[in-house]
Amino acid sequence: VPTIGVLALQGDVVDHMRALEAAGARAVPVRRASELDAVEGLVIPGGESTTMSKLLEIFDLFEPVKKRLDAGLPVFGSCAGMIMLADEVLDGRPDQRSFGAIPMTVRRNAFGRQVDSFETEIAIDGVAGEPFRAVFIRAPWVERIGEGVEVLARVHNGDGAGEAQGGRIVAVRAGACLATSFHPEVTPDARVHEYFVDMVRGADAGPVE
Ligand code: GLN
Repeated sequence: VPTIGVLALQGDVVDHMRALEAAGARAVPVRRASELDAVEGLVIPGGESTTMSKLLEIFDLFEPVKKRLDAGLPVFGSCAGMIMLADEVLDGRPDQRSFGAIPMTVRRNAFGRQVDSFETEIAIDGVAGEPFRAVFIRAPWVERIGEGVEVLARVHNGDGAGEAQGGRIVAVRAGACLATSFHPEVTPDARVHEYFVDMVRGADAGPVE
């Protein structure tokens, strides 16, 4: 059973831990570098990316997390967590930092201009079966993807620019990194977490000695 950490400085930590356990992992909260050393995968939850960025610095966790991500630790970021994984953030605060683990440009609160929160059924590549009920809460979308980034899901939200591209990108995978604009942890459907647990099993990163 892989041990997967949930960055627990801020955001919807408990829901991710429950979903990871439902998906067959052992879930542990991560608030300090020593806890980070013990995990084989990491979830960066939704919440508020500007606050999360600040707290990562205050708790001296930004560099340790970045170091493990750079070394290939499997990571899943949802919503604010997706923003934290991007190498470029639009509509962010000037002092907001992100890990740059995925070559992509993410726009914060992107759907928020039309509507704050919404739910819709989407198809996700690699997630078999019926469509996934995706919950979007002041969600970002992905505006640019770099080399090696695979689009797993798009959403048709009716905006012209997005429709021209077949819908806005809301889920991506790049190597050992997974990111979603939506919150799979708030629904009882654990398939996205199962997908991530499988990634962790496949990567076999192992805890740091
Ligand atoms: N709007 C938030 C941010 O910019 C993300 C919202 C969320 O995680 N639900 O960080």
